Amino acid sequence: MPTPAVSPASILRVALPSPLRRLFDYLPAARAPSCGWQPGLRVRVPFGHREVVGVVIELADTSELSHDKLRAVSEALDDTPLPADWQWLCRFAARYYQHSLGDTLHHALPARLRQGFPMAGRTHTLWRRHPGAPEAPDFGRATRQAELWALLGQHPGGLPTRAITAHGLTHDVLNRLLHKGLVERREVETATAGPAGGSLLATPALPLNQEQSDVLAALHEKLAEFHPCLLEGVTGSGKTEVYLQLIEAVAAKGQQALVLVPEIGLTPQTLARFRQRFNVAVLALHSALTDAERLDVWEAAASGRARIIIGTRSAIFTPLANPGAIIVDEEHDGSYKQQDGLRYHARDLAVARAHYHGIPVVLGSATPSLESLHQALGGHYRHLHLTRRASRHPPARLELIDLRHRRRQGGLLPDAIKAVKATLDAGKQVLVFINRRGFAPTLACHACGWMAECHQCDARMTLHRAPPLLACHHCDSRRGLPDACPDCQSGDLRALGSGTERSEETLQTLFPETVIHRIDRDSTRRKDSFEQALREIQRGEPCLLVGTQMLAKGHHLPHVTLVVVVNADGGLYAADFRAMEHNAQLLEQVAGRAGRAADPGRVLVQTLHPDDPHLTLLAERGYGALARELLQERRLAGLPPCGFMALLRVESPNAQAATALARNAAAALGDWLAQTATRARCLGPVPAPMERRQNRYHLHVMISAERRSRLHAAASFLARWLEASPEARRVRWSLDIDPQTL
Ligand code: ADP
Ligand code: ZN
Ligand code: ZN
Repeated sequence: MPTPAVSPASILRVALPSPLRRLFDYLPAARAPSCGWQPGLRVRVPFGHREVVGVVIELADTSELSHDKLRAVSEALDDTPLPADWQWLCRFAARYYQHSLGDTLHHALPARLRQGFPMAGRTHTLWRRHPGAPEAPDFGRATRQAELWALLGQHPGGLPTRAITAHGLTHDVLNRLLHKGLVERREVETATAGPAGGSLLATPALPLNQEQSDVLAALHEKLAEFHPCLLEGVTGSGKTEVYLQLIEAVAAKGQQALVLVPEIGLTPQTLARFRQRFNVAVLALHSALTDAERLDVWEAAASGRARIIIGTRSAIFTPLANPGAIIVDEEHDGSYKQQDGLRYHARDLAVARAHYHGIPVVLGSATPSLESLHQALGGHYRHLHLTRRASRHPPARLELIDLRHRRRQGGLLPDAIKAVKATLDAGKQVLVFINRRGFAPTLACHACGWMAECHQCDARMTLHRAPPLLACHHCDSRRGLPDACPDCQSGDLRALGSGTERSEETLQTLFPETVIHRIDRDSTRRKDSFEQALREIQRGEPCLLVGTQMLAKGHHLPHVTLVVVVNADGGLYAADFRAMEHNAQLLEQVAGRAGRAADPGRVLVQTLHPDDPHLTLLAERGYGALARELLQERRLAGLPPCGFMALLRVESPNAQAATALARNAAAALGDWLAQTATRARCLGPVPAPMERRQNRYHLHVMISAERRSRLHAAASFLARWLEASPEARRVRWSLDIDPQTL
């Protein structure tokens, strides 16, 4: 850390959790922290009628406010500033995403620190049986004490307080045993650093195949500099094994590795794979952690005690004392983009961060985003390849089958049903992929054509069977099933199309003897039910899996040899220019579930557009070929990643107010672009693809430019204009830099 700057300071410029893109001036508190006033210190300050937690950003000599108007900081919360790398990342993200710095810092802090708790959670209490206690003390009728005694007997190494209270045992029970001298407590470091016995690996690394060794050698070459790499490797080609061995090299130097995985990817199996390999602590950041646990991980990473940190999107904001590499697995995954507030992309921040630290960053995927592919083909990222699967069989090609004019059962064509039967007869498993939960996409009147629509959105309601209701998947509103058509009173209401529930039902009548696992958000609402189903599936009995993209990604399903895609047309002819890219990634990922182990796989893809050039290219030559073709098309159209884009989203329950603000903003930006001769374009306003959602009206204004600097200049003007505009206070708006969906 640099030595304390100015102390005593005259003015502290503080970032506060506020959408306003500015800092707030305060006088220092009477008691200075022991490090002196410095940027990066957390402070508690009066703000309006409340007190809030903010972060000192600058020290200044003067303020625009006169001295008697300035209020004083109530207290400094820490005696050391927040980690420098973390501060840098927040500033970078705020600037890049045109977001308020105060809001960004707030978002990036663990909840406990946001709330003003101290940063001291470096140790925690472990309880264990006292070595001198008798083997079987008599607890009489104190059954809770006996229970605690038994529990501690199972954990001779000791249990943290939280683990004990999680069993329903209270502090009171603990204290009673403590007084009896039966248990003892120890304060231990929250996350232990290095390997306990000296060796880094708990289990030996796999011998690599030639391709893997080449990739690893390329990574080893540049461990001490910024080295952005795209690892394009087919599903099951052993990317994870490469990550593990890269991490080994990093950890051997005493450095830390940060691994990002998609929301859906941080399964107990993934974690187990990392933990089995290493003797050093592998800390996971996931949604099930308590605030206290989250803070523990944050501090362990900031102090360097945690050597491997693995987490989803927000883990990119983990401070690292001694970073050695960043890995982004499934870098194309949509969950890396935050869709509200600070709309950051964790993959892009990972690259920026690696550049700041001067370390390698590996972006891995079987289906790279066009963004990363563009960088790799342009020579800005090192392009590494894994083309062969560890399990002999190449990934199956897609076989397109024509849905037009043909009778289906539960969404499936006769050919598909025949293939399902043959696979089950051979003792294998089948995955039926259908990207729609519920029974049917909608309920329709056969007499007049009425369809059940959401009263709050421009969308149809999905029909659910168990329990029977109509639900909107956009706003979550629900209503009961009508007995008759509200328009013509006909009783002939029919389910239109198929969702997972309907496919499950039909398949069950076709294959009454077969176990069917339905995997979607409805069937897995209960905690652990997904894990439990996966465990059963992995036992390998022949069965049918019917599922949405929850099943499509990441999971190793070694006994699945047939995949049926009920409808591949989601991305065709959609309004969003990225739809085909995302659709192709999904199809290739689903296809990758087939034939991962000893037997080869087959993938049947039902489509209404069997002649579509993109779909046929994907089927015949695979994702890589299609992605390169799509990239050409983007280049010709000047679309991202071959051009840059930002989106102003405006929404309000009042359609006129939303339209007026969007129009005025677009006009102001148009004028500014003309006056400053900035070569960027402003398009719109146009209604969002779903204009009315939850009774709010959504409009877009799009900014595009060939150079990023011009895009940022335009976006920055727009942000300032909106912040100064009184009408923008009555309408909700947000700026999205590099939007991923329209
Ligand atoms: P990916 O991450 O590319 O999908 P994985 O790393 O999960 O691939 O590897 C797929 C399977 O192949 C896993 O079961 C893994 O244990 C195995 N595997 C990977 N590399 C090797 C290797 N060098 N030798 C033997 N098996 C390997
Ligand atoms: Zn009707
Ligand atoms: Zn709705």
